[in-house]
Amino acid sequence: MPFISKILKKERLSGFLERLVRDRQVFAPVKKGEVILIREIDSPSQVILEYRNAKESPKSVFFPQRETLFRYRAEKGRVLFGIRTCDARGLLLLDKVFGGGCSDPYYTDKRRDTVVVSLGCVEPNTACFCLSMGGGPCSAEGSDVLLLDLGDRYIAEAVSEKGAALLEDQAFEEGDEKSLSLAEKNRKKAEASMQPVAKKENLGEELERLFSEPVWKDLAESCLSCGICTYLCPTCHCFDLCDEAAGQAGERIRVWDSCQFPLFTQQASGFNPRPTVKERFRQRIMHKFSYLPETQAMLGCVGCGRCVTECPVNLDIREVVTSLSGGNAR
Ligand code: SF4
Ligand code: SF4
Repeated sequence: MPFISKILKKERLSGFLERLVRDRQVFAPVKKGEVILIREIDSPSQVILEYRNAKESPKSVFFPQRETLFRYRAEKGRVLFGIRTCDARGLLLLDKVFGGGCSDPYYTDKRRDTVVVSLGCVEPNTACFCLSMGGGPCSAEGSDVLLLDLGDRYIAEAVSEKGAALLEDQAFEEGDEKSLSLAEKNRKKAEASMQPVAKKENLGEELERLFSEPVWKDLAESCLSCGICTYLCPTCHCFDLCDEAAGQAGERIRVWDSCQFPLFTQQASGFNPRPTVKERFRQRIMHKFSYLPETQAMLGCVGCGRCVTECPVNLDIREVVTSLSGGNAR
């Protein structure tokens, strides 16, 4: 490209620099005390062009005297201790979603470095129904170590290498037959105390069949779309990505979202494929009992009972499942 020769009148210099400063970092000679230095400016008035040379060379603009090349932090391993077995099992679904075909490093890095120690339920809550969802009050699925309370001691069962390594700690003694048989007795007692949920074996297919039926309007009638059920659920995982800018800096953040919120599926055109509570409620149930079993070979509910106890209008997912299975809701 040939050189272009133009004139810059001095009275126009300030305006030119003003426009540069508006959307670029501008470095220029400025007076600091008695010396001229090359510094970032925020106003043309700072610029000194009648000078012999700057005290320092401008190389630091590209090659700072001190520059952090990268940061690292040695992460300590993590232990998630004493969680309930349904919640540990819920992690298996999150593992499939965030660690499956398209791995999410923000999730998988934390998961890989964490040992999960769950605590079996000796006396399950009345709202719990893990057994009906394929788990159990003393299930070790999703845990590295399962602890069972035996009164004056726990029996600790390691079900992974990470778990076995944890049990190397001096606090643990060899298990004995008496403890094993007491654990088995407690497990059976806990399971027997749970109310089964009448759920059709092929509920997923049944839900597909019911997709356009009016039943959803009745079931969802009292739902407020508050989203509490999804926020508290150990398996719900919908999120939104937001770019938050402040001047020339910004960050991209991930925040929980909920399929129960009216704006969740709102499109830029204004069209919303799930405009009423009926479609949103149906989505939550279909996702848990039809779509996830089909795509991830796992139900999207582990029966923790949180949505049962915390829903402000007492919408009980057990009753919804029973009703959709053709049974009578309580
Ligand atoms: S917690 Fe209850 S009211 Fe709120 S969105 Fe869930 S089902 Fe609807
Ligand atoms: S009981 Fe409710 S909150 Fe708990 S796993 Fe099932 S859907 Fe989620």
